[in-house]
Amino acid sequence: MPVPDGAVLSRRAEIVTALRRIVPGEGVIDSEEERRVYESDGLTAYRTLPMVVVLPETVDQVRRVMRYCSEHGIKLVPRGAGTSLSGGALPLADGVLLGMGKFKRILEIDIANRCAVVQPGVTNLAITHAVQDQGFYYAPDPSSQIACTIGGNVGENSGGVHCLKYGLTTNNVIGIEMITIDGEVVRLGGKHFDAAGYDLLGVMVGSEGLLGVVTEVTVRLLPKPPGARALLIGFPSVVGAGECVAAIIAAGIIPGGMEMMDKLAVQAAEAFVHAGYPLDAEALLIVELDGCEAEIDHLVAAVEDIAGQHGATSCRVSQNEAERLNFWAGRKAAFPAVGRLSPDYYCMDGTIPRRRLGDVLARMKQMEGQYKLRVANVFHAGDGNLHPLIMYDANQPGELERAEEFGNDILRLCVEVGGVLTGEHGVGVEKRDLMGTMFDDTDLEQQQRLKCAFDPDSLLNPGKVFPQLCRCAELGRVHVHAGQTRFPELPRF
Ligand SMILES: Cc1cc2nc3c(=O)[nH]c(=O)nc-3n(C[C@H](O)[C@H](O)[C@H](O)COP(=O)(O)OP(=O)(O)OC[C@H]3O[C@@H](n4cnc5c(N)ncnc54)[C@H](O)[C@@H]3O)c2cc1C
Repeated sequence: MPVPDGAVLSRRAEIVTALRRIVPGEGVIDSEEERRVYESDGLTAYRTLPMVVVLPETVDQVRRVMRYCSEHGIKLVPRGAGTSLSGGALPLADGVLLGMGKFKRILEIDIANRCAVVQPGVTNLAITHAVQDQGFYYAPDPSSQIACTIGGNVGENSGGVHCLKYGLTTNNVIGIEMITIDGEVVRLGGKHFDAAGYDLLGVMVGSEGLLGVVTEVTVRLLPKPPGARALLIGFPSVVGAGECVAAIIAAGIIPGGMEMMDKLAVQAAEAFVHAGYPLDAEALLIVELDGCEAEIDHLVAAVEDIAGQHGATSCRVSQNEAERLNFWAGRKAAFPAVGRLSPDYYCMDGTIPRRRLGDVLARMKQMEGQYKLRVANVFHAGDGNLHPLIMYDANQPGELERAEEFGNDILRLCVEVGGVLTGEHGVGVEKRDLMGTMFDDTDLEQQQRLKCAFDPDSLLNPGKVFPQLCRCAELGRVHVHAGQTRFPELPRF
């Protein structure tokens, strides 16, 4: 991370007083014990105590805090619920952590225009809860949806089980209000489709808190499909299951969701939630087919047929809504279930072409032996989005470093087979130093030009996404020659 600025730290008391004038009462958190709560996000391997935490309640307060930071050269990290798995909301020791948790009102439900206008601190699931009585829902459904906020979803362009058919956050957010670092309120998009000019809304979704702070989100609402059934399909090998996924899509079928779990993940989930998973399967596919009953009947038969051709050893179709939800319960609880197998796990997030699933999973198996760490695989198979969970024990010296290096190798493999570094968790600090495996210097410079257009002094969430010192440190690998690094005067991260 960037070296904390001593000059800013020496002005801490003055900064806290100024922020208290903008956000009075309990909105500025200064004591060490209370700041400690915010020292990390979902990537708990990294921790930094923020200089100060600010919890504004109004757009005007956000605007004034940002303008103050801009005028005084103070860094600022936006935070929703802090569930990011890539360290996107990791605080800075010399920065303000701007928690948007108090922005939790649903401002408008507009069924006629099939959209809702919500504040950024509203949780993902709360949107569906607010509209489900009217037969609607908000489609992107990260497994963290009971906790994560829509502002964080915009930050990370989050996905979930149903994004294969219904799109990611970027396909379901149609407007935002945001504040730039100098305190200007900007509206992008709205209830209408296709805003005029450049697609700045597309730029903001997935910008990881680097370009502005989102203060309002207009989301698309979809009518709930009339019916849905889920299939649990067991395979004797991950390769067979991977090929079946590719064949289903190649046949022109886009399931509502298509998820894969390997044996270790199946066993962990079954022991945790008793979803009725086949414990003898090496790989399990959960395929959800939605639509009207006749359409579902047709699709179920087609998927059963394709699964049979790819060596499926078992296939169960949910017989009612309770059973369908139970099939999903195991998948949705797979992360905490794996958490019961190991003191710590490191969740990776790379995306590969679907056709390479079997191949990549086999290579990962070999790496398990090399790194002497176990991996449970749970992933959005339809999108080719992998979530290997590398199990380690942070109390064993060197295991975290081994897990990180293992994770880096998995991501390099994803890029090597034609994939990308992240499917939905973002780059954050976690994948920052791997950006060079996917982008060359010109790409990275162009991306940073865009950042500069929004935030010329790099005060918003610095240290995330873009490799630090990328030229002299060769993307995280410092060249040491005869015991000397080049450019010894430069601070190293
Ligand atoms: C158990 C578990 C399961 C998960 N499953 C999934 C999954 O299935 N799919 C998935 O995509 N992710 C998943 N995640 C990751 C995480 O939940 C998502 O990335 C989520 O969108 C983060 O939301 P948040 O409110 O916690 O944001 P935070 O973690 O607080 O922040 C995330 C990023 O958004 C920025 N940000 C937050 N609020 C704002 C704002 N108002 N304006 C501008 N920038 C902002 C932050 O600076 C940061 O860069 C999972 C996490 C956990 C712990």
